[in-house]
Amino acid sequence: MQQTDIIVIGAGLTGLTCAHHLAKKNRNFIVVEKLNHVGGVINTEKENGFVYETGPNTGVISQPEVADLFEDLKDKMTYEVPDEFSKKRYVLKNGKWVALPSGLIGGITTPLFSWYDKFRLLGEPFRKPGTNPDETLAEMVKRRMGKSFLNYAIDPFIMGVYAGDPAQLVTKYALPKLYNLEQNYGSFIGGSVKKMREPKDPEMQKATKKIFSVKGGLSNLMEALQSSIGKDRILLGLQNIFVEKNEGGYLLKAINADGNPVEIQAKQIVSTAGAYALPELFPFLPTSQVDKIKNLHYTRVVEVALGFKQWKGRPLDAFGALIPFREKRDILGIMFMSTLFENRAPKDGALVTIFIGGVRRQELCDLDDSAIRELVAREAKDLLELDDFNPDLFKIMRHAHAIPQYRADSKERFEAIEQLEAQYPGLILAGNLRNGIGMADRIKQGKTIAEML
Ligand SMILES: Cc1cc2nc3c(=O)[nH]c(=O)nc-3n(C[C@H](O)[C@H](O)[C@H](O)COP(=O)(O)OP(=O)(O)OC[C@H]3O[C@@H](n4cnc5c(N)ncnc54)[C@H](O)[C@@H]3O)c2cc1C
Repeated sequence: MQQTDIIVIGAGLTGLTCAHHLAKKNRNFIVVEKLNHVGGVINTEKENGFVYETGPNTGVISQPEVADLFEDLKDKMTYEVPDEFSKKRYVLKNGKWVALPSGLIGGITTPLFSWYDKFRLLGEPFRKPGTNPDETLAEMVKRRMGKSFLNYAIDPFIMGVYAGDPAQLVTKYALPKLYNLEQNYGSFIGGSVKKMREPKDPEMQKATKKIFSVKGGLSNLMEALQSSIGKDRILLGLQNIFVEKNEGGYLLKAINADGNPVEIQAKQIVSTAGAYALPELFPFLPTSQVDKIKNLHYTRVVEVALGFKQWKGRPLDAFGALIPFREKRDILGIMFMSTLFENRAPKDGALVTIFIGGVRRQELCDLDDSAIRELVAREAKDLLELDDFNPDLFKIMRHAHAIPQYRADSKERFEAIEQLEAQYPGLILAGNLRNGIGMADRIKQGKTIAEML
C-alpha cells in the first residue's frame, strides 16, 4: 500500500493543473488515471502533414490563471495566439455567411438583427434587471435584447460553446459573467461600458480574452504539465478504481496495467472525473445526494477533422462559422484551424473542424461513419463552396460525454456537492460538473483547489 497526502483522480486539464500547483508547493500527492495517457479529452494527432485536435481545438485566456500557467510552463511549451483573423466570426443567415458585427456602425447595418430589435436595443440600459435566478438564457436575451439577437447572436454562440440550447441553459450557471452584468450594473450595455472604465487590478489584466492553442497542438500543453509534475507521480491505465472511507481518510483501490492490485491511502482526495463516474468511484456516498450530481446532462457531439492539401473552397478568413439552429442545417459550426494557427495543414492546404449533434440534434450522433461522411460532404460542399469533396484527411471523433449542460438542476447539484464535502472532510468533487466548462475554467479550478489543499 502506498501512502500519500493527496490523491488526484483524473489526468485531464483540471487534474494536471491541480497537480502542477501541488508540485510547486512540494506537496505529497499521486495522480491516478484510467486511460493510458494524460490529457483527458485533450489530444492532438499528426498525419499526412496535418496536425489536428480530437477534443477541444482552442481555449481563451479569460482567466489570469491561464497566463500564469503558460508562464510556469514556458520552458516546456509555447502557446500561440492567432492574429486579427480570430476576431472575425461568420454567422449563417438564410444560407449566406454574414460577419458578426463588432462596432456600432456594423451593429446598425448588419442584416443579422431586425430593425425593431436594433431600435429596441436603445432602451436596453433602462430595462429592469430580472428577478428570477433560474431564468433561461433564451428568456433573458429575449427580454433585454429581442428575438433576433437571441436567434442570430446568442444561439449560434451557445451552439459553439455548449453545443447547447439557450432555452434550457440557465444564465446564472451557464454564463455567470453575463448574469452578473445585469444583476450588478442593471444592463448588458451599460455594465460592459462601466466595467471597461473601471480600473483593473494587475492580476486581472493578464486575462487578455485572446484565443490560444499551443505550438504543435494542445497535447503539448498536457505533456508539459506531465513533465513539470513528474511522470512517476502519475499512475496511468488503472482499472476498477474505487474509493473507501476509513479513519485515516480515503483508501483508493484499483488494478494496474499488469493486472496487480493497487492501494493508495491519503488524507485528502480530489475527483476531476465526470459527474456520471461518481457513484462507481465513491460507493460510500449516499445515493440520494450523489443522484443530484450524476443527473448532470452531458451532450453528445461528433467532431470531424477535415484536411485538404490544396484548398479550393471559399476564403477561410475568420475564426470560423457559427450556424444558428433556425437555419436548419446538419452541422453546428466550422472552425478554420489552419487559418488560426501555423503548421496545421500543408502549405496552400486547409484544416477545418466541424461539429455535429449537440443537445438539439442528438440523433445525428447515432449515424454510422459513412452517413457522417455523406452529411459532412453535403454540408461542406455547400457551405465551404467546394466543387468536389475529396479531403486528404477525414477523421471522425465521437464524444459520448462532451459538454455538461448547466441547467436549472445546477442549484441542487452545487448544494449536494457542498453538503458532501462538508460531511466528508478531505473530499473534493471537482472537474467540469461545476465552475465552468471551458479550458480556462478548468485551469482556474485546478489552481484554486491546489491552493485550498
Ligand atoms: C469535443 C469537445 C470540444 C471542446 N471544445 C472546447 C473549446 O473549444 N474550448 C474550451 O475552452 N473548451 C472546450 N471543451 C471543454 C474542455 O475540453 C474541457 O473543459 C476540459 O478539457 C476538461 O478537462 P477535465 O480535466 O476537467 O476533464 P477531462 O478531460 O474529461 O479529464 C478527466 C479525466 O478523468 C479521467 N477519469 C474519469 N473517470 C475516472 C475514474 N473513475 N478513475 C480515474 N480517472 C478517471 C478521464 O479518463 C480523464 O482523463 C471541449 C470539450 C469537448 C469534449
